[in-house]
Amino acid sequence: MPAFLARIPAAPRDHAACSGCSLCLLVCPVWRQHRDPRRTPEYLLKALQCGASAEELAGIVEACPLCGACVPVCPERVDLVGLIADLRRSAAAPMSHGAALSRNAALRRKLRATDLYVIEPRAYHADYERLVKYYDQLQVETGCSFNLDLQRIAIPAQGQVAWILRGRQATRVVCESRDDCAVFAAACDLPVVHITELVEA
Ligand code: SF4
Ligand code: SF4
Repeated sequence: MPAFLARIPAAPRDHAACSGCSLCLLVCPVWRQHRDPRRTPEYLLKALQCGASAEELAGIVEACPLCGACVPVCPERVDLVGLIADLRRSAAAPMSHGAALSRNAALRRKLRATDLYVIEPRAYHADYERLVKYYDQLQVETGCSFNLDLQRIAIPAQGQVAWILRGRQATRVVCESRDDCAVFAAACDLPVVHITELVEA
């Protein structure tokens, strides 16, 4: 067997194997048409290596027609078509009601850096791996603080409002759950709004 063939991995590999050689970019029709580095397979893999979520990569993933041209040229045998198909399925999966509402651009503009945004805990824990990245991104974009702690689901909400607010400079509480709205309204002096009120305001 020629030496260069011996260096090619036997089985398809995931995004971690990408070395950034750019060979896939040269054959990608999306790159050839748009010349946009953010819509290339190489960019996609580097973003995944840095922890990007399916939601953040939706633009690149939707632009790819799954032509498969990138797969045979990759010296690292990265399964780009399989990866992109998985990302499509993941992005299409339904999100919790609160997370879906918080994707609304008008609502995001109304969130303030001094808001405490209270995530509905059961939906959050049920889809933790995806939602932790989603809410991290929302935090960066809005500057809000979040109840991103793992104990919350096990503690009665009524008894933990002071604990959640401790050390925060919040001037308003925004809740995904109407039950949490009632708990915060009864236990603190801050204005409390349900997330749908921001969509409608
Ligand atoms: S499968 Fe997608 S990323 Fe790969 S070459 Fe085709 S269009 Fe580009
Ligand atoms: S050809 Fe393979 S190793 Fe090179 S940048 Fe593309 S995916 Fe990464």
